[in-house]
Amino acid sequence: MTADLETNEILIFSADSHAPEMGSSQRSAPIFHQYGRLAIVDFPGSVTQSPVPDAAPGAELTPTEALGRRGFERRNSAQARAKKQDRRFQGLSWEGAPGDGPGPIHPPGMAMVENRPAQPGAPIATPLSARLTGRVAVGLVIVSGPQPQLVFSAEDQTLVVAEVQNGLSFLANEAPKKGVTFVHDIELLTVDAAEVTSGNDFDAYEAPWRDAALEQLGHAPGDAGTAAYAEALRQKHGTDWAYVAFFTKYRIAHFAYARLGGPRLVMHFDNDGWGPDQIDRVFAHETGHIFNAPDEYAQSGCDCGGAWGHFGEPNRNCATCAPNGGEKCIMQSNDWAMCAATKLHLGYDGLPDRNGVPIA
Ligand SMILES: [Zn+2]
Repeated sequence: MTADLETNEILIFSADSHAPEMGSSQRSAPIFHQYGRLAIVDFPGSVTQSPVPDAAPGAELTPTEALGRRGFERRNSAQARAKKQDRRFQGLSWEGAPGDGPGPIHPPGMAMVENRPAQPGAPIATPLSARLTGRVAVGLVIVSGPQPQLVFSAEDQTLVVAEVQNGLSFLANEAPKKGVTFVHDIELLTVDAAEVTSGNDFDAYEAPWRDAALEQLGHAPGDAGTAAYAEALRQKHGTDWAYVAFFTKYRIAHFAYARLGGPRLVMHFDNDGWGPDQIDRVFAHETGHIFNAPDEYAQSGCDCGGAWGHFGEPNRNCATCAPNGGEKCIMQSNDWAMCAATKLHLGYDGLPDRNGVPIA
């Protein structure tokens, strides 16, 4: 068991990022994550972690590798595991709880606020995240600001990497053929943008620090620059898909949101009342949107129709209209669970159709 997932993940060095070197017993094990030359591989059963050396053979770890390793160790620490196994608000709808509880995962009545196409002029002709298959580049951009309260400490950075890793391990483990690998590319940036502290405009809060970050990465501002960065990551890592996840402590209009179909996801470190230690599930939910999965909690305004994701599947687990409110599912509530509808929305490989026959 890794953290609170039904996985048995092992961190290994691989000489070639495309072909991890593994012993014969390990060759068929699925690779959930890559951080440069480090791979995190799932071994169902009793394989145990060997001590991981501090450096790759012949070279120091890159920042992405070092963070991937530290995140993995954090996930496996006794303290983190205990917290995960006793989660606050376990099973609560993503509507949140009124009063002192956490807020809704999206603003009431605005769940689809980000579910609009990217602005015209975005340079990417090929979809960046049409379905959750194969290799996926994740551009994790952790943006600190000039004031102390806007700075991510090394511990905060490790927490974010660990939470993202745990959330994406859940998504990788749900894939029927275990064929999804997240290829991480981590940037730790500091910008000197001014913080916007009032208003209702999502972009007005986000643009100053996001565009300063994009500039440091050598890209244009806004949607076009974000898409170009995602495409550059896809090329750099030779992946099928790519998206960009910004983490910030700057005030933003809502603590988590993503554009349906990608390529941009934004999260605040505080994660509202859910807390930083539950970034993993919120991140998995938002990544669902990147790969075209719709919300399923009632307050999102969902209905059981539509044609969503790679297979054009209706939203039949929507809480408003599904029998008994539907099944537990990452797109509906704070659970490590995924309903059949969401699997179809994500477009995993090897899913059964309604007659139990695997579909492409
Ligand atoms: Zn959502």
